[in-house]
Amino acid sequence: MYIVSKTLHQAVGGRCAWCGRADRTLTEDHVFPRVLGGTKELWIPSCTECQTFISRAELEVGRSSFYSLFRLTQGPKGRDKRKPGSGLLEARYMLVKHPLGGYGEAVLRVGDETPQALPSIEIDVADRKGIRRRGMKPQEVDDLVQVLAQIQQRTQNVESFLAQIPVRLDKIPDIDEDLDFWPRVVLDVRHKPFIRARNEREALSFAKLLYLLVKTYRFGEYAAWTEAEVKGGTPHQLLLSYRRASMHRMVAKVLVALARIRNPQLADNRVFQAVSKFILGATESAGGVEVKDVWWPDTISSWPEHHVVYFGRCDGRVVGVTSFYGDCHVVDFGPVDQFSERTEEVAARCRRDGTRAEIMPKEFGVYVRDTLLDQAYGRKTIKEGAA
Ligand SMILES: [Zn+2]
Repeated sequence: MYIVSKTLHQAVGGRCAWCGRADRTLTEDHVFPRVLGGTKELWIPSCTECQTFISRAELEVGRSSFYSLFRLTQGPKGRDKRKPGSGLLEARYMLVKHPLGGYGEAVLRVGDETPQALPSIEIDVADRKGIRRRGMKPQEVDDLVQVLAQIQQRTQNVESFLAQIPVRLDKIPDIDEDLDFWPRVVLDVRHKPFIRARNEREALSFAKLLYLLVKTYRFGEYAAWTEAEVKGGTPHQLLLSYRRASMHRMVAKVLVALARIRNPQLADNRVFQAVSKFILGATESAGGVEVKDVWWPDTISSWPEHHVVYFGRCDGRVVGVTSFYGDCHVVDFGPVDQFSERTEEVAARCRRDGTRAEIMPKEFGVYVRDTLLDQAYGRKTIKEGAA
C-alpha cells in the first residue's frame, strides 16, 4: 500500500487540496468516489465545504447516471440500510405496468433484486369513477394519507395545498395516450409526497379531488386495495437523467487527486488550479482543459473487476485517462511545459465492489495508458516517459 498521509499532509501544508485554504476543518477525501467503490486507502485532504460540492456531483453520477445501473450488479453496495437514500437509484421515474391495471411507481436499490413499490393513491380524474390505492402494506398508504392530512392542515385552499407537493410532469411515451394511467400522489422513500400527472391541467384536477378526499374519504378501508408487489420479471420503465458536467467533474477530480498524491508540488500549478475550480462547480469549463467521453460503460473488458486511472504523458502533453465500469474518459491537461519537470506519472485502481483502492506499479500504468489511448486514438501512442 502506498502511504500518503504524512508526506501528503506535509506537502500541502495542512491545506485543502481543492481550495487551498488552511483555516477550515480537513477531512479525508476519497480519490475514487465512494459511490464507485473508493476506499480510504487512497485519499487527499479536503475541507468539508469543498467535500460537499464534490460529493454532490459524485452522488449524481453514482445514483442517476448509467453508472448506477452498473452499480446494481457490480457494486459497491449501499452503505447504510437505515438511511432511506442509501444505495438508491434516483431515477426521474420508474413505472411498473400492473397486471390488474394502471401503473405502479417503484424504486430500485443497490443490492435489491426487484423494484420496491411506493405507496400511492391514484384517481381517475377523467371519469371520476375510481380510486386505486397501492402499497406493499396497508400501513404504507395510511402513512401517505397522514402526510397529506398534515399538509392540508397547514394550507388554506387547494392552490396552497398543491404548492406544497412537488408535481412531476415528465414526458413518458407509454402513459401519454393510455387511459389506464391515472394521476397519482406517491410517498417516496424519504417520506416526501409527490404528484405525477401528464400535464398541468390533469395535476390541478387531481389536486382538487385529492384535497376533498383527504378531508372526507375513509382511506382506511383496506378492501378496496390493489396489491402492489412487483413480481420478478415484471416489465418496468426507468428514466435516469444527470448532467454531463457532473460526470466530467468526477473524472477530473479523480485524476487531479491521484496526480497530486504522487506530485504534491502541483498544488501551485496554474492548470490544476483552473481544473480545481471546475471540479468545485465554480466554473463551467476547466480553463481550456477538456474532458472527453470516449466510450460508454462495458465496452472495455480488460479490467472486469476494477476501475483504473492513469495520469502522465503522451505525445508531449500531460494527459489523464480513466476507465470506470469499462468506459473511457480522456483529459488533456495541456503541453508538458506547463508542468514542472518533476511531474511523475501515476496509475491506480480500485475494486468495483468497494473493497480496495491502490496505487499501481509503473508497468501497470504504462499498460493502462497504452491499452486505453491506443483504442481512444485508434493508433499506437508514442511511448514517451515510459519505463
Ligand atoms: Zn476546500
